[in-house]
Amino acid sequence: MLNSRIDWCDSTWNPVTGCNHGCEYCYARGIANRFGCHATPNDKVSVVIHPWEDSETGRKLPYPYDFSPTLHKYRLNEYEGKKGRNIFVCSMADLFGDWVPLDWQLEVFKACQKAPQHNYLFLTKNPGMYAVMDEQGELPTDSNMWFGTSVTTPDDPFPYNGKNKYNLFLSIEPLLADFGAGSEGALKDIGWVIIGAETGHRNGKVVPEKSWVDNIVTQCKAHNIPVFMKESLRALYGDELLREFPKGLIRG
Ligand code: SF4
Repeated sequence: MLNSRIDWCDSTWNPVTGCNHGCEYCYARGIANRFGCHATPNDKVSVVIHPWEDSETGRKLPYPYDFSPTLHKYRLNEYEGKKGRNIFVCSMADLFGDWVPLDWQLEVFKACQKAPQHNYLFLTKNPGMYAVMDEQGELPTDSNMWFGTSVTTPDDPFPYNGKNKYNLFLSIEPLLADFGAGSEGALKDIGWVIIGAETGHRNGKVVPEKSWVDNIVTQCKAHNIPVFMKESLRALYGDELLREFPKGLIRG
């Protein structure tokens, strides 16, 4: 469990880590490889029942298999009994990647339902999995669950419409291209939009233009969608940075 440095949530929770999408700008892969144990998994996905510990210091080792997909069973009840907060689930993974076994997702949902005082924010680059799970009746309709889609360019797969059963949001981060003025279809039924620029020093890093962000904000405003701009846009917006939350995620 990490205290979050991600400014749109209160905490992150990683019962699953690792991801096979291979995004060039991925910060999570760098962290997992740096602090990982470099153990070779026996399979394409791994389950860890008890935390691995450093034999000398007793310190917990959070990434036994680096960035290879891993379910950490011992983390499933980490937020039971804690004060309510907005939790980004699996900031170090894509819980809805094609490679993730269905029972992992169901175990995570079950753990969420055992601690209903929190709001849970999921994020995927594979929104088709939401549709598949919806069809199979496996995607929870709990009002404290928010199903997000992560996009970086207008060519990425956009969320399905959710049939008005789910809280949906869009994370446009890192913003790598101008979405222009014609993405309105993609915003249908979306309840929140997060926008952020790429950070770090990657070769080929894209610095967004202010007009790209303005285009998204204009479309969100036309649909009354709250917009949260990440700190990474402060250079473009200064004190005008929008920090809006949808009603269900505002904490008193
Ligand atoms: S989807 Fe997220 S976690 Fe997976 S490789 Fe891309 S940036 Fe990293």
